[in-house]
Amino acid sequence: MNTGEIIIAGNPNAGKTSIYNRLTGAVQQVSNYPGVTVEFVSAQMRHEGRRYTVVDLPGAYSLTAYSQEELVARNYIVECKPALVINVVDASNFERNLYLTIQLMEMRIPMVIALNMVDTAERRGYKIDTAKVSALLGVPVIPTVASRNHGMAALRDACVAVIEGHVAAMPAPITYGHAVDEELIALMEAIEKREKLTQHYAPGWLAAKLIEHDEVAIAGARAADGDGLEPLLMMADNASRRMERHFKADAATIMAEHRYGIAAGLVKSCVTFTAEARRDVTDHIDMVVCNRLVGPLILVAVVAALFFWVFKVSDEWAWIPWPGGFLSPTELVSRFFDLLSGLLAPLESRAPILHSLLDAGIIGGVGGVMNFVPLIFFMFLFVAALEDSGYIARVAFILDRPLRVFGLQGKSILAFIVAGGLGAGGCAVPGILSTRTMREDKDRLVTMLVTPFMNCGAKMPVYAMLIAAFFPGNRTLVMMSLWALSWATALGAAWILRRTVVRGEQTPFVMELPPYHIPIFRSVLRHTWERTWLYIKKAGTIILAINIVLWAMMYFPRPPEDVSGHEVLAHSIAGRAGLALEPVTRAAGFDWRTNIALIGGFAAKEVVVGALGTAYALEHADGEEHRSLSERLAAMPDWNPVRAFALMVFVMLYAPCLVTVAVIRRESGSWKWAAFATLYSTTLAFVLAVLIFQIGSLVTG
Ligand code: GDP
Ligand code: MG
Repeated sequence: MNTGEIIIAGNPNAGKTSIYNRLTGAVQQVSNYPGVTVEFVSAQMRHEGRRYTVVDLPGAYSLTAYSQEELVARNYIVECKPALVINVVDASNFERNLYLTIQLMEMRIPMVIALNMVDTAERRGYKIDTAKVSALLGVPVIPTVASRNHGMAALRDACVAVIEGHVAAMPAPITYGHAVDEELIALMEAIEKREKLTQHYAPGWLAAKLIEHDEVAIAGARAADGDGLEPLLMMADNASRRMERHFKADAATIMAEHRYGIAAGLVKSCVTFTAEARRDVTDHIDMVVCNRLVGPLILVAVVAALFFWVFKVSDEWAWIPWPGGFLSPTELVSRFFDLLSGLLAPLESRAPILHSLLDAGIIGGVGGVMNFVPLIFFMFLFVAALEDSGYIARVAFILDRPLRVFGLQGKSILAFIVAGGLGAGGCAVPGILSTRTMREDKDRLVTMLVTPFMNCGAKMPVYAMLIAAFFPGNRTLVMMSLWALSWATALGAAWILRRTVVRGEQTPFVMELPPYHIPIFRSVLRHTWERTWLYIKKAGTIILAINIVLWAMMYFPRPPEDVSGHEVLAHSIAGRAGLALEPVTRAAGFDWRTNIALIGGFAAKEVVVGALGTAYALEHADGEEHRSLSERLAAMPDWNPVRAFALMVFVMLYAPCLVTVAVIRRESGSWKWAAFATLYSTTLAFVLAVLIFQIGSLVTG
């Protein structure tokens, strides 16, 4: 086996042999049609008295096992483990050539890119930012015109510098989007434990091949590791099946599409068109959507439209036919819970405790959350449609650059969006899990610490209830300001964390840009339903349990003689806790009943509305039972819009829910960060709520 070899790889007709001849002084045939170099040839390159073997590989468009010449090139790389690969990229066909580049990067060999034919590219009106390509891919990129001997000295110097260890050229890890990366990383970790495999293969590459069902790679790995491979194959099989169910395509196609997406993203961020070049529909849309000035405006418009329509279809428009007129979806759900509550009425005198548990604790708490299922459903529906169209990737793309200022990156935005950053109604838990694909620990940690500020589905009921009570005419506007505030806080917090507790370098990242397509109704609906069902299930299990505990804390102990209303609640454990905190929380406008709800919200924020409902229901004055919580609060003299807004902001920002805290602990590897996340966000939330309440009260008199 030859060590210290340099191999030249690239698409057919990219200029590989021209470069080979220039570097070695060989006189191999150069011709202007693909397929001329069919066998590899090698020759010596001399540099400052040293000799390096250079191998000219046959051209290949990709490294799949489908075609013989591609397999030949690939096997050569796997078996000979060259010290360096010179990837000759035809700059005038940049995007198509990048497909091979990405596959070479997956093989984890030091790489230098010879960006050849820049003359032709420039003639066609493309200008490629080589420094940026180099930063994003993590390898040196040398512009060359092999036919006229331009850039050859620089290329030779770069190769020698890498081989001699003066310059790092290990390609940046490739990421394929959240869903695929999760599978790949899990499989890769399993491969890393098997030395017999890691001796021969880059774990990430092998993981991808196993998931793609690449027969040749599987046979090779089986030869290397024997029966040890079987459990890995099972794992890979399950992973591809999950991916196939999710993307509705076979695993190899999914991977290929993601590679094309990465190539498209690179082109978008590194190539400028100085003249008219041919563009397809996706390019036309992206010219507007990814524009640095127009793009953000479109984003804001999209989010505003989202809130506007979601409220309309879920709540404002009565469009569901019903005996005796039309109902809105929200009305329909609340009718159902009113009905249940009505059925329980006879219990009130016969079994007051049971009645209170069922009515105030369970129907008030769970029903309070369920009322917002239509809202959440339509929110999810709109976001799923946007995701499927390809727009979400563009959001990350346009925000990547501005976010760098705050010490975040494009990947952070994906985490934010999963957590509810587009509109409202996501979950911080999958958001935080999606940061697994960020290889830079500092970037990742900061993203984890600020992702919970996004407006997850659990905060929606609080917003919707308070907005209905105090800002009925300005729903979209208030939701927009909450949305903007969540981003501003996340960015501001990241900026501060970056300069204090989590200092460190940032890594560049290529956003994958899949082509746009019209959302597929069935798959959008399926995703929407899956997410909505999770929400419902959570309300019926965890939230139900917490509500029962909370109800008991609000109901017991009973006061000595049978006093009613206010006294009963104040006498309970929860009531006393709420009252004890009141002197402090007064500054933000929270009374003791609100405190009870907020304490419950530490467990999960869905609980807040239900607990507020229970707190107010447990001490209702006669005749008030059948008013909704919104109506009741709106009618109370000490509640006003300022107080409501301060409460919404506090709920948005204070401590992540218990599950999120546990996930932060697991993903960051220490309780320290989990505790830190809880403390700093609660402090921040309180300070902001106090400011809003105090200043707001001054202004509104
Ligand atoms: P291979 O198939 O990758 O080995 O490519 P070759 O080295 O055989 O080159 C293919 C054709 O491109 C030949 O006609 C070369 O003269 C031409 N060529 C190579 N490099 C350049 C370049 O940088 N600019 C231009 N305009 N033509 C080039
Ligand atoms: Mg050739």
